[in-house]
Amino acid sequence: MSRQNTARVAIVGGGILGCAAAYHLARAGVGDVLVLERDELNAATTSQAAGLIGQLRTSAVKSAIVGQTLADIATLEADGLVSGFKRTGSLRLALTPEREAETRAQVAAARRFGVDATLVGADDARRLAPGLEVPKDHPAAWMPNDGYAEPYTLATAYATAARRGGVTFATGREVLGVRVAAGRARGVTTGGGEVDADAVVIAAGAWSGVIAARAGTAVPAFPVRHQAWVTAPMDWLTPTFPVVRVPDRLAYLRPEVGGLMLGFFETTPLGVDVAARADFAVAATPRDRDVLTAHAPGLMEVIPGLGEAPVVGGTAGVPTYTPDGHFVVGALPGVAGLFVATGCCAHGIAGAGGVGRALAEAVTGEAATLDPGPMAPGRFGAQAWDALWVRVACEETYARYYELVRR
Ligand SMILES: Cc1cc2nc3c(=O)[nH]c(=O)nc-3n(C[C@H](O)[C@H](O)[C@H](O)COP(=O)(O)OP(=O)(O)OC[C@H]3O[C@@H](n4cnc5c(N)ncnc54)[C@H](O)[C@@H]3O)c2cc1C
Repeated sequence: MSRQNTARVAIVGGGILGCAAAYHLARAGVGDVLVLERDELNAATTSQAAGLIGQLRTSAVKSAIVGQTLADIATLEADGLVSGFKRTGSLRLALTPEREAETRAQVAAARRFGVDATLVGADDARRLAPGLEVPKDHPAAWMPNDGYAEPYTLATAYATAARRGGVTFATGREVLGVRVAAGRARGVTTGGGEVDADAVVIAAGAWSGVIAARAGTAVPAFPVRHQAWVTAPMDWLTPTFPVVRVPDRLAYLRPEVGGLMLGFFETTPLGVDVAARADFAVAATPRDRDVLTAHAPGLMEVIPGLGEAPVVGGTAGVPTYTPDGHFVVGALPGVAGLFVATGCCAHGIAGAGGVGRALAEAVTGEAATLDPGPMAPGRFGAQAWDALWVRVACEETYARYYELVRR
C-alpha cells in the first residue's frame, strides 16, 4: 500500500471514472496524482458492468463523451495495452411506429454528431444478428463502430497508462473526509494519515455524495441497483453476434462466453441509500430474479433462441443516476479546489474517456473540449440539497431509461 502523503491532485475512488480521470490528468501533464482506493481497483460497480459502448445518444455532448472513450481505446491499444474492447457493432430495434420515429430521429442526429449510424431493414438485421425475430415494418439502427468492453480490463488499461504517466495508486486506503480550510480543499484524511493536495477529485461511485456531504457540499446523484444475467452457451449464437438493444422490452444484450449477457431497466427501481448503510458493499447488492422472470418472456419474442439456455450467472451493482440523465463532472459549488466525477447513469464504462477528459480540463483550467454545461455539478442549484427530491428524480431517470425521446 502506498503511504504517499502529498500530491498535486488526490482522487478518491479507483473505479473506472477515477482511473480515467487520473489517465487524462497525466496526459494533460499532471502526473503528480494520488488515487486513493479503499478496496482493490475496479472491484466495485465497475467490475459488475455489461460494458456496452454505444454512441447513439440523445445529445452531441453525450455522443462525444463516448467518442472520447473509443479514441482512448485506440490510444491504449496503440500503446500496447489490452483494452478488452470488442467492436461487434450494435443494433437498436424498434418494435412500434413511435419507436421507429425515435430511431429515425436519433440516427439522423447521430450522423450530425459524426457517428457512423444507419437504418437497416429486417433482413439486414437478421443477417447481422442471426436468431433475431425483428418486425418487417420497422427499421433498426445499426452502429458498426459500437461494441462492448470487458469493464475490468478497460479500467485496468486506464490505470496502467496512468501509472506510466506518473500517477500513484494506493489501494486499501480509505478516505474518511476532505480537508477544507478557508473554503478550499487542502487534501483528504485517510485511515493512514492526512494527504495534502492542491485539488481533490471525488470519484467514489455510489459513495460520492457521502464524501461530498462531509465536505459541506452536495452531489446531485443517487445510486440505483442495476442487474444483468448471463445465459449458458447457445449453439445458434454466431461469433460475430453484435450488441442488441430492445428499448421496447427495456432490454439490452451482448455476447458472453458463448452465451448472452442480458440486462433490463426495472420499472420499479431500487434506490440504495449507502449513506444510511455504513456496511453496504457492492458485492452485497440485493439481486431480484423476479425482474428476469417478468421481462424475459417479452425479450424471447424477439430472440426465441433465448429459451434454450438456462441463466447460469449474473452481476449487480449500484451505478449512480442523476435527475436529468447527464453525468456530474467538474467543480463542486461551495468548496474551491473540490471536483467530482460521477452520475454515470449506467454508462460510466462507455463514458469513461469523456468524463476523464472533462474532469482533467476542469482541474487544469484548460479550454474545455466537451461542453461542460450539461455536466456541471451546480446545474440544479439549491435542489441538489433536497435529498428526497434528488433520490426520487434519480430513480425516475432509471425507470425512464428507455422511454421514448420525443423531439
Ligand atoms: C449490471 C450493470 C450493468 C452495467 N452495464 C453498463 C454498460 O453496459 N455500459 C456502461 O457504460 N456502464 C454500465 N454499467 C455502469 C458502470 O458499471 C458504471 O457507470 C461505472 O462502473 C461507474 O464507475 P465509478 O468509477 O463511478 O464507480 P465504482 O466502480 O463503484 O468505483 C468507485 C470506487 O470508489 C471507491 N470508494 C468509495 N468510497 C471510498 C472512500 N471513502 N475511500 C476510498 N475509496 C472509496 C470504491 O471502493 C470504488 O472502487 C453497468 C452497471 C451495472 C451494475
